[in-house]
Amino acid sequence: MKLNERGLLVVLSGPSGVGKGTVRKALFEMEGHDLVYSISMTTRPPREGEIDGDDYYFVSKEEFERRIKADAFLEWAQFVGHYYGTPKDKVDEQLKQGKEVVLEIEVQGALQVREKMSDAVFVFIAPPNKETLYRRLLRRGTESNETIQKRMDKAEREFPLAHKYDYIVVNDEVRNAADRILAIVRAEHARTERSIHKYNEIMEVDES
Ligand code: 5GP
Repeated sequence: MKLNERGLLVVLSGPSGVGKGTVRKALFEMEGHDLVYSISMTTRPPREGEIDGDDYYFVSKEEFERRIKADAFLEWAQFVGHYYGTPKDKVDEQLKQGKEVVLEIEVQGALQVREKMSDAVFVFIAPPNKETLYRRLLRRGTESNETIQKRMDKAEREFPLAHKYDYIVVNDEVRNAADRILAIVRAEHARTERSIHKYNEIMEVDES
C-alpha cells in the first residue's frame, strides 16, 4: 500500500562549513532509502576534483541570470560573490514521480523554499559549536582568509535562523548526523497529514 503519491522534499541547510555536503554524501551511502539528490547550479568555479553535472552544473553569470529571468529556479541566492540555485523542473518532475528529493542549500535559499513549499521538511545542520565551524572552514583549505572570514560572518547571521526549521541536527559525527536525518525522513513519511487522504481512499473512510 503506497500512501504518499507525491514525493517528499527534504531541505538540508545550515551555515557554510558545517559539513552539509559530507553529511549528505554519508546519507546517500546508507542503505534502505530511496533519496535522490538535486544537483544545484552555480557560477562558482569548480574546486579541484569537482565534476560538472555531478557536484554542480557550473555555468557563467550570464547563463545564470538568463535562467533567473526565465523563472527556472525553485530558489536561488548569492553567496559570497557567486550565484547558487536549484533548477525547478527536475525537482518537480522527481516529486511527481513520488521520489524523495534532497536539496543541500544555504539558509536564504531554504527560507525561499519554505515560502513556496510548506509540505517540505527543513533540517538545519548545526556545528557542535562555533569554534568547530571555524576550524572546519580553515581546514578545508580551498578558500582565501578573506573568504573564510566572510563565510564565518555569514554563519553568525545564520545561527539565529535555526528556529525557522522543523529539525536541528548537530553534526558532531558525520555518521550520527546522517542517521538522524534518515530517521527524520522516515518519521515524516509516517506523518498523518501526509497520508490521511490516500489512506481514507484506500480504506473507504468517508472524509466528510
Ligand atoms: P560551496 O561553494 O561551498 O559549494 O557552497 C556554498 C554554499 O552554497 C553552501 O552553503 C551550499 O550548501 C550552498 N548551496 C549549494 N547549492 C545551492 C543552491 O542551489 N541554492 C542555494 N541557495 N545554496 C546552495
